[in-house]
Amino acid sequence: MVDLHTHTTASDGTLAPAELVELAARRGVTALALTDHDTVAGLPEALARGRERGVEVVPGVEVGVQWDEDGAMHLLGYFVRHEDQALLRRLGELCGWRRDRAQEIVQRLNEAGVQVSFEQVEAVGPGCALGRPHVAQALLKAGAVRSVGEAFQRYLRRGRPGYVARAMPSPDDGIALLHAAGGVAVLAHPSTLRLGRQGLKSCLEQLQGWGLDGIEVYSSGHGAAQRETYLVLAGERGLLVTGGSDFHGATKPDIQLGSGLGGNAQVPDAVLEELRRAAAARAQS
Ligand code: AMP
Ligand code: ZN
Ligand code: FE
Ligand code: FE
Repeated sequence: MVDLHTHTTASDGTLAPAELVELAARRGVTALALTDHDTVAGLPEALARGRERGVEVVPGVEVGVQWDEDGAMHLLGYFVRHEDQALLRRLGELCGWRRDRAQEIVQRLNEAGVQVSFEQVEAVGPGCALGRPHVAQALLKAGAVRSVGEAFQRYLRRGRPGYVARAMPSPDDGIALLHAAGGVAVLAHPSTLRLGRQGLKSCLEQLQGWGLDGIEVYSSGHGAAQRETYLVLAGERGLLVTGGSDFHGATKPDIQLGSGLGGNAQVPDAVLEELRRAAAARAQS
C-alpha cells in the first residue's frame, strides 16, 4: 500500500510524524509521502522512524498558492531536498505569513466579542504552519463553538467576522520553488478547484507552461468518475499521475491512511515508481 498525501502536527494533522509512520507500519503502508502544508519540519522525525520501521518516507510538501481571489490551489512537491536552504527560507516566510494572519484572525474575533487568544491557537499544535484549522480547534476548546464545522460556518469562512485572506505565492512561483529544491510539482486534489473538464484543461495548460509535472488522481475527494476523468486528462496532457489519502488524523476521522475516504485513494504501486523516475530525471537535468 502506498499513500502519497499525508499531514502531521507539523501542519494541521493530529499525529506527530513518528506516530504517522507507526500507523503506516501497522496498516501495511509500505511507502508514505509526508506532505505537510507549507513546511518540511516534520520530515527529519518521519524519515528517522521510517528507517527504523522499514517504511519508505518520501520527502514532500504541500504549498498553497493563490489561484483566484476566492482562494488557494494546492501544489504537492515530491522528493524535495528538505534541507535546501532556499526552500527552508521560502517556507519559513510562508509560515511567518500564516502566523501574522492567525494573529489578525484572533484580533478580528476578539473585536466581534469572541473570547479566544493567540496563545490558545498556538497551543493547538507544535507546528509552524498555523491555519484556520488551528483557530477552529482553539474556539472549540474555549467553548465558543461545539464543532470545528461550526467554527468555520460562524466565524472563519469567507464573509464571516474572523475571515482573513491568507497571503500566498503565485502558482508559477510555487512550482519554481518546488523545482528549485529538486522536487516534482503536482496539482493536488483538482476537484477542489471546481472547474469543469474544459476549465481544468486550460488550467493544466497554463500550469504546464510553468512546469507542472503531474496531477493527483487518486484522492479521498475523488469518486470513480473523477478518477477516470483525471486519468484521461493526465494521459492526454502527458502528466504524471499521483495519489494519496490527504490523511489528517482525528480532525478528518473518516479518512483512512493508505486508502482514503471510502477507499477512494487506493494508489497503485506503479504510481510511486513513475514518480521516482520523474524525480531522478529532474535531478539529472
Ligand atoms: P487555511 O489554509 O488556514 O485558510 O485553512 C484551510 C483549511 O481549513 C483547509 O485545508 C481545510 O482543511 C480546512 N477547512 C476549510 N473549510 C472548512 C470547513 N468548512 N470545515 C472544516 N475545515 C475546513
Ligand atoms: Zn490540511
Ligand atoms: Fe490540500
Ligand atoms: Fe493535504
